[in-house]
Amino acid sequence: MKPTILLIEDNEQNLYLATFLLEQNGFTVVPARSGPEGIELAGRVQPALIILDIQLPQMDGYAVAQGLKQNPVLKDVPIVAVTSYAMVGDRERALEAGCTGYIEKPINPDTFRTQIEMYLKARSAGGETQS
Ligand code: MN
Repeated sequence: MKPTILLIEDNEQNLYLATFLLEQNGFTVVPARSGPEGIELAGRVQPALIILDIQLPQMDGYAVAQGLKQNPVLKDVPIVAVTSYAMVGDRERALEAGCTGYIEKPINPDTFRTQIEMYLKARSAGGETQS
């Protein structure tokens, strides 16, 4: 079975595009449209990777990343922040909050898959391998 990716994204268009690209590459996608929903789902589905939009209502991506990191079950799960290109400070803040790395919005369909697979590989190279 292909890895499950949790996608925390409130924008329907971005959610649709990212889901399409991931499913096209064989991933199973679990969508969450808010931070609290994402944190709750992450503990239940234990995804191989989490894609986290930074601009979310009620609870922003930094707070969500910190919340995810509080769950020991998720300690080795890479969190890839999705940040706006213009917001340079966002990247540093995302890393400080516990994200593994970031990709820039708008998502580039030509490089998205490669970026996601890089973060998945970095994870399996770094510790116990799960399939
Ligand atoms: Mn958003």
